[in-house]
Amino acid sequence: DKSLKEEAKIEGAKQIAIGVKKEVDFATWYTNVLLKADMLDYYSVSGCYILKPWSYNIWEAIQEWFNFRIKLMGVENSYFPMFVSQKVLEREKKHLEGFSPEVAWVTRAGNSDLEEPIAIRPTSETAMYPYYAKWIKSHRDLPLKLNQWNSVVRWEFKNPQPFLRTREFLWQEGHTAHLTKAEADTEVREILELYKQVYEDLLAVPVIPGVKSEKEKFAGADYTTTVEGFVPTSGRGIQGATSHCLGQNFSKMFNIVVEDPDDNSEGQDKRKIYAYQNSWGLSTRAIGVMVMVHGDNQGLVLPPRVASLQAVLVPCGLTVNTSDAEKKRVLDECDRIAKTLVKEGIKAKADLRDRTPGWKFNDWEQKGVPLRLELGPGDMAKNQVIAVRRDNGVKAPVSLDGLPGSVHNLLNTIHKDMYERAKAAYDSHIVVCTKWEEVVPALDSKNVFVMPWCEEEACEDEVKERSGQSSEPQDARAPSAGAKSLCIPFDQSKWPAIEPGKTKCPQCGKDAKRWTMFGRSY
Ligand code: AMP
Ligand code: ZN
Repeated sequence: DKSLKEEAKIEGAKQIAIGVKKEVDFATWYTNVLLKADMLDYYSVSGCYILKPWSYNIWEAIQEWFNFRIKLMGVENSYFPMFVSQKVLEREKKHLEGFSPEVAWVTRAGNSDLEEPIAIRPTSETAMYPYYAKWIKSHRDLPLKLNQWNSVVRWEFKNPQPFLRTREFLWQEGHTAHLTKAEADTEVREILELYKQVYEDLLAVPVIPGVKSEKEKFAGADYTTTVEGFVPTSGRGIQGATSHCLGQNFSKMFNIVVEDPDDNSEGQDKRKIYAYQNSWGLSTRAIGVMVMVHGDNQGLVLPPRVASLQAVLVPCGLTVNTSDAEKKRVLDECDRIAKTLVKEGIKAKADLRDRTPGWKFNDWEQKGVPLRLELGPGDMAKNQVIAVRRDNGVKAPVSLDGLPGSVHNLLNTIHKDMYERAKAAYDSHIVVCTKWEEVVPALDSKNVFVMPWCEEEACEDEVKERSGQSSEPQDARAPSAGAKSLCIPFDQSKWPAIEPGKTKCPQCGKDAKRWTMFGRSY
């Protein structure tokens, strides 16, 4: 039977589509998905990658969403040069200590050495703040809220991984200066909430908001807030995005200062206020997390709200016996339906390429298109299409009457289901540890853990050291690192209340302060 053979061929093609299974060789699976989905290509400089339209589109969707919202907060986009002079880079000592191992330098132009090497920004605090000092002359110049969409370079020596850790990466970096600490604190959390929404409402990836430990905070910051994601297949945590409160650390170094508007004294005696500053960044790492969380053994699974193609129409049921007129009728109808959907704000198109339906199914599955709409002569007679969900394979007829509304609803359901599945996976991989003996087994079963923690830096070093010795053999490409603190979640209500003086840190036995999430991480 010809159609059975065809089916078997499609099944066979599917099995080898990604080459290896996600659960078996996650690292190879990940790069295969990126290549097969046509998101990325390798580049001749190690640690750098080409973002092809299929992934850059996602970045644009994030940009559009985020730009709209930060502009409502009064943030404006601008652009600063990528080069930073050595003198300026070195002005904030703690900041420099944190970044100096990863800074790339330009030392030569043409054939001659530069008199002074010039740094390529690893982040732009030091590039921007001399000019903040120049522009902020009075309290009336505050707040100053600038953002830039740019790339930065961090010459990382950890294993590079596409999107997650690259030597050059795209991001946005917001830099704001405020008159009061309260105003700065409020903004830190507002931005963090936007980051949570980028992950959860756009990418359908659950994250846990919290504050970083002293050891893990941004170099030069007072404190760092973060949204922490989780990759169930590897059991590793990943920092999603960060919103830092820099306090007055940089404003004191860069002399960003105004006279206190509430001080009524005259002239030289007026009290000075150093600006309270924040900086916040979200990078293309988010795309990698999305791929790792949602992808499956058929390839990429795109969350509908960032998919540049949400629904693809595929003409089906046409055989060698179908007349040309009938074929044309089906193709035209596919095209017509796609255009109707586009008019109603759905990103749709008809795939009218000269290929078998099976080939097209496979192609769009690898590329993760959320919804496939199949249309054949039989469906036309019934005034319907067959809708097939990428996320769970569920197939159902949908009437052509009111199709745009039905597709809208389906896309929302897909988003919700993807988020909820990922959330259930995250939740079920957070192990509550109150005894140290529970920690390493939890990590080795691909979990992160929470424990009531003393919040001391020496204790965090010990956690890392003691949890680094796994009881199980590890994948050479993902060597078992020790666990570090991921964040101290803002929502502490999920776990038993910590009793001051009574609840102890399982690692060191000192008094515990807050529940803290630890894990192996990217
Ligand atoms: P940071 O300025 O260090 O707080 O970084 C801001 C955000 O950029 C982090 O939350 C990460 O999500 C992301 N990020 C940091 N380093 C890299 C990298 N090498 N590649 C991609 N994204 C990165
Ligand atoms: Zn401790």
